[in-house]
This record gives sequence, structure tokens and C-alpha cells, in this order.
Amino acid sequence: MGVPMLDIATENQAVAEAVRQRIDAVIETNQFILGKTVAELELALAKRCGVDNAVGVSSGTDALLMALMALEVGPGDEVIVPPFTFFATAGAVHRVGATPVFVDIDPVTFNIDPAAIEAAITDKTKAIIPVHLYGQCADMTAIMKIAEARGLYVIEDAAQAIGAKDHDRPAGSIGHVGCLSFYPTKNLGGFGDSGAVLTQDAELAQKMRHIRLHGQTDEYRHQYVGGNFRIDGLQAAALIVKLEHLDAYEAGRRAAAERYQALLSEVPLTLPAAAEGQYHVYNQYTVRSERRDELCAHLKANEIGHKVFYPLALHLQPCFAYLGYQPGQLPVAEAATAEVVSLPMFPTLSAEQQERVAAVIDEFYQ
Ligand SMILES: *Cc1c(COP(=O)(O)O)cnc(C)c1O
Repeated sequence: MGVPMLDIATENQAVAEAVRQRIDAVIETNQFILGKTVAELELALAKRCGVDNAVGVSSGTDALLMALMALEVGPGDEVIVPPFTFFATAGAVHRVGATPVFVDIDPVTFNIDPAAIEAAITDKTKAIIPVHLYGQCADMTAIMKIAEARGLYVIEDAAQAIGAKDHDRPAGSIGHVGCLSFYPTKNLGGFGDSGAVLTQDAELAQKMRHIRLHGQTDEYRHQYVGGNFRIDGLQAAALIVKLEHLDAYEAGRRAAAERYQALLSEVPLTLPAAAEGQYHVYNQYTVRSERRDELCAHLKANEIGHKVFYPLALHLQPCFAYLGYQPGQLPVAEAATAEVVSLPMFPTLSAEQQERVAAVIDEFYQ
């Protein structure tokens, strides 16, 4: 029996009829861009994520870009980011003309290391983008303390972490701006590309609403240069329905993680660990092994879905060669790229499927 890495079909089939009805309603109104369905989604998202303002956007990538633009981060500014994350985190910094400054991560949580942030701050530092990797928040208490002492902005990349909490504070609600992605494989997965920015700051929210529309503050009057970062009504229709099920998706993922923890306790793999005070929502269930590549080959031969997030750290990407980083410079992140592998994880993953995954892993170590 093979086990897929992902099964978004089951989750989406279950809501398909409700989504179709919502889509029909959008078609009736012809409000395909923004409009009242989007406004309804934004209210529901703000409530779920514990913030006063949510602004729907075209993707998680654009959420990051828009947050940086709204905070006026640009040429001459440095932004501290982890090197072990999806590309967009650092790509957005480059795109606004600022310089990404990569600092190392914590070996247990894989999230940015607050001590490394502290050590990298210069006169040019303007913001920090902690990423809540795999569904667990970075150490936001330490990060906010550093940021407040130095007057830096914090943009949370919560693309993988809607629903996660750091000491009861929802992911995306703690920094100046939180960025969400609704890419179909995220914990709240849409029917296409979209995302959102979250903020407690009403003025900043308004500015981001303007930037979403080419910086337009009144019709054809542009206070800023923004972009087209709009979310569409059909996407919002699907997300409103799926947001109602987010608690159930989250419970499914957390239950699956608990079963893995029991099934894999005897094998010589390092299993994911929630740090003290962290409520992990397991966008990925990522283990680590010094024999990672051999293990992957064995999983593949047995049709067990798996994927390496991420095989090459961002400070070593060809497009960032101009920054001058060398291999070995961020050793914790580089070791992670060589040792991690994510196992099948989705809300409807069954105990039987997980027993199969565990049996194949057991076989590898025997
Ligand atoms: C998915 C993801 C993004 C980008 O989101 P898109 O909606 O795909 O643009 C950004 N950062 C992280 C950490 C992600 O996982």
C-alpha cells in the first residue's frame, strides 16, 4: 500500500457543494474582484487570527511584498530573514530593493535563532521576518523584545502557520504585520492562489488596502506606487467555506502528528518537537536523519510520499550570490537542508496509512 504525501482531494470534495453555492452567489453579483464576499472573508479571518484587520491579497508572496512596501522598506535597508524557508521570504526583500541578511536557525524548531538576529543588527536594519516554519511559531517573545529595543519592524511569515499559537497568541497577530498564504497545500488551502495580511494597526491596514490597488487613495489619485495585489471573489467564496472547517483540519493534523510520535518513537530519527508554549499546527511533519537520502530512496521504492523542504538554503541560492555568502557560513541551516524530510501529512491521514509509513521506516532501520 502506497501513502500519498498529500491528499487535498478528500478535503476539497467534502466542501465542494457548499463552495459551488458560494461561487454561484458571486456569479450572480458579478463582484469578481474584491467586493462583499472578500469583505466577509476578511472579517472572518481577522476574527480567527485574533487581529483587528485582515486584508485579502493575491498570494502569500504578495502579502510579504505588500507588508514591506507599506512599512517603506527599500534601498539601503537591511531585513533579517532565516535562510531555511520558502524562497518568497527573501525574494520579497530583494524585490523592494532592500538587502536580505540571512541568520542561522535553531536546530530543534528550525526557526530563526533570536541570538543570531541580535548579532546581525546594524544601523541599516529596518525589519525582521521570522518564518513560522512547518506550522510552529518562531520564538516571538524573544524576537519582539529585540525588535522593540531597536525600533525594528516585525513581519511574520505565517504562510505555513495559520492557527498556530505562541503562548496563546495567534500566528500573524504578534508582529506589526502577519502574512498568510492560501496556496492549496497550506493549512487553509484555497482553490487557487491567494493570501492575506493581518495587522492590529488600522492605519497600516488602510495603507495596505491602498497599496493593494496601485496605491490609489481616491479614484485615480495615487498616494503611493502599489501594485495589483487583489484577491478575487471566487477565491474568497472557497475560503469562507473552508475557514469554517479550519478547526477540524487542524485537529486532524495534530492527531496525525501525535500518532506519528508514538509510531516512530523507537526509530533513530529526530522527530519534530513543539517548543515550550508553542501550539504546532503541522503544515509539515518533518523528521531529520543523517541518512536522509538513503531513507528517501527507501520511501520512494515503497511508494511512501515524502518531500525535502528545503534542499538548498537561501543564502546559497544562485540569485543571492551577489550577497557573498559562503557554504559553511550558516551551519545549522545547511545541516538541516541535508537532513530533513517531510512525511505524509494532511488532515484526513489515517492511522492505517501512518502504520504503513512507520513499517517502511522500521524496515529501513533494520
Ligand atoms: C507558501 C509560502 C509563501 C508564499 O505563499 P504563496 O501563496 O505561494 O505565494 C511564503 N512563505 C512561506 C514560508 C511559505 O511556505
